[in-house]
Amino acid sequence: MSSLEIKNLHVSTGDKEIVKGVTLTINTGEIHAIMGPNGTGKSTMAKAIAGHPDYVITEGDVLIDGKSILEMESDERAREGIFLAFQYPSEIPGVSIANFMRAAIQARMGEGEEIDASGYYKRLYQKMDLLKIDRKFTSRSVNEGFSGGEKKRSEILQMAMLEPRFALMDETDSGLDIDALKVVSDGVNQLRGPNLGILLITHYQRLLGYIVPDHVHVMIDGRIVKSGDKSLALELESRGYDWVKQEFANA
Ligand code: ADP
Ligand code: MG
Repeated sequence: MSSLEIKNLHVSTGDKEIVKGVTLTINTGEIHAIMGPNGTGKSTMAKAIAGHPDYVITEGDVLIDGKSILEMESDERAREGIFLAFQYPSEIPGVSIANFMRAAIQARMGEGEEIDASGYYKRLYQKMDLLKIDRKFTSRSVNEGFSGGEKKRSEILQMAMLEPRFALMDETDSGLDIDALKVVSDGVNQLRGPNLGILLITHYQRLLGYIVPDHVHVMIDGRIVKSGDKSLALELESRGYDWVKQEFANA
């Protein structure tokens, strides 16, 4: 078992503190959902953990199996097993999905190691079938002209191919219609297992009906103000976030 430990994490962008002391441990085999209103720092936290240069960690630590990753560049963090599925995936014109993914896998291999081409395509097609992605997409440029649902599926495809230990999934459900949501959820549920820990960031409880989390945390104004099990997500759905804010303010 591996663990991703987030300890008293403070993150700033510009001169503004956005994440104000989050502590959370995710073990492989677990799914943690983070819910919260827009603008509370969920994406900021995920991007800071992945090593995005715009987000500065001013205090606290992030450790994998007890080893701090803060001094690592984002590619080293990826090699340690961190994967971030973006809320707003970028388009990369001119780079096909097949080549992009191959480069990503190659980049993670040791020096002198070479990807096995036939094995690679076999695996790629298996995962694409799993995610109901048409084969013709392999030659299309990454995310270029993709619908919202296709972009999200392409993020999950990357995740399936890279086999991370810890996946940070940032609003993977946003912009999906119900069919796409089911495909994406099925994909995540297939990938779910003892060797993968997932941090699932979502605004709505809808996704959590398909991907059932082990733990649910509520983030408000840069802090986790409440944690519980999957029933907390249902309570938030019916009661909104204000009562949690009140409870936190009165505590
Ligand atoms: P959430 O994902 O919970 O909706 P975000 O982490 O995206 O929240 O944003 C939290 C706050 O940080 C917002 O006020 C947002 O405007 C601000 N913020 C996020 N990224 C940047 C950035 N690159 N530059 C300036 N402000 C940012
Ligand atoms: Mg966000």
